[in-house]
Amino acid sequence: MRNSKEYAERLLADIKREKREVSLMEVCGTHTVAIARSGLRSLVPPNLKLLSGPGCPVCVTAQSDIDAVIELARRPGVILVTFGDMMRVPGSESSLQEEKARGADVRVVYSPSDALEIARQNPERETVFLGIGFETTAPAVALTIEQAAASGLANFSVWSLHKLVGPALDAVFSDESVKVDGLICPGHVSAVTGVKPYEPVVSRYHKPCVITGFETLDILEGIWLLLRQLNQGVAEIEIQYRRIVRPEGNPLAQAAIERVFTATDASWRGLGIIPASGLAIREEYGAWDAQRRFDIPEGKERIIKGCRCGDVLRGVITPYECPLFGQACTPVKPVGPCMVSQEGACAAYYRYGRSH
Ligand code: SF4
Repeated sequence: MRNSKEYAERLLADIKREKREVSLMEVCGTHTVAIARSGLRSLVPPNLKLLSGPGCPVCVTAQSDIDAVIELARRPGVILVTFGDMMRVPGSESSLQEEKARGADVRVVYSPSDALEIARQNPERETVFLGIGFETTAPAVALTIEQAAASGLANFSVWSLHKLVGPALDAVFSDESVKVDGLICPGHVSAVTGVKPYEPVVSRYHKPCVITGFETLDILEGIWLLLRQLNQGVAEIEIQYRRIVRPEGNPLAQAAIERVFTATDASWRGLGIIPASGLAIREEYGAWDAQRRFDIPEGKERIIKGCRCGDVLRGVITPYECPLFGQACTPVKPVGPCMVSQEGACAAYYRYGRSH
């Protein structure tokens, strides 16, 4: 791609010509962080709002799901394996980090295959991997389950909290309090899915979508393309991140998801239950499905007093508009998950400062 200062300046000059009030939503947390880190919010004109969306997997994990996983971690003989971001996410009374401090065997890994290795090394115990993330991480987890099945690894299972981007966008746009004119769509999810999840956004809600990369120049170009569509009065799916994303996505990764998972209703923090928005493990892999293997009672959602993560995740407010931001809620002492995750909007706004 053109990596020139002049090109960035030209895009920015064009963007600054936009005089209408325009709100664009960056769907994923990686974009939220990239925008905050680059200071783009302070470079674009004030009439152009960049709002965060529901694409931070840690932030959207329901508190009741965290409670269930905590309950599982407390079971004798269980090794709970997870990504580091999940450790501090608050459930209704505790977090995985607190449970670890109290003696639960909770381990952090960088890849699901590390969890397989832990299971092999501990044949007398149950190793449960907490599967979290969108279509980007689901294929690797699917392959891990297939590997466990192929090798007959009976003490390994996955607690799937995977989610799908498309149904969440549908839930966001069907909410009339959401005022978003266009979507900066996630490059890495789209590398797997292609353009499909955004088709209803265009056909049903007539909002332009641009699949965008993560460099500052990518994001500037993505914003420019969205404004161009809005000015032309069209709503289409464009791919700015052409060096990675194909319209059809990655058929091999899609097939891996399809073989192992099936769509199921899922509970999202701040968004409630969204039909067919999660991934459950198919019956034929039931022996590796922790939700089938362990009898864990369903938790209840409890409102965290004052926390407005749900509104942040729907782009209704920015983190600064939450009364707890930077006071009662900071990355050191987070109240809600949007302040916990590296990719959470509140954490990104806090880390990179008010001017951004
Ligand atoms: Fe929730 Fe904290 Fe963000 Fe407020 S600042 S919405 S309390 S995570």
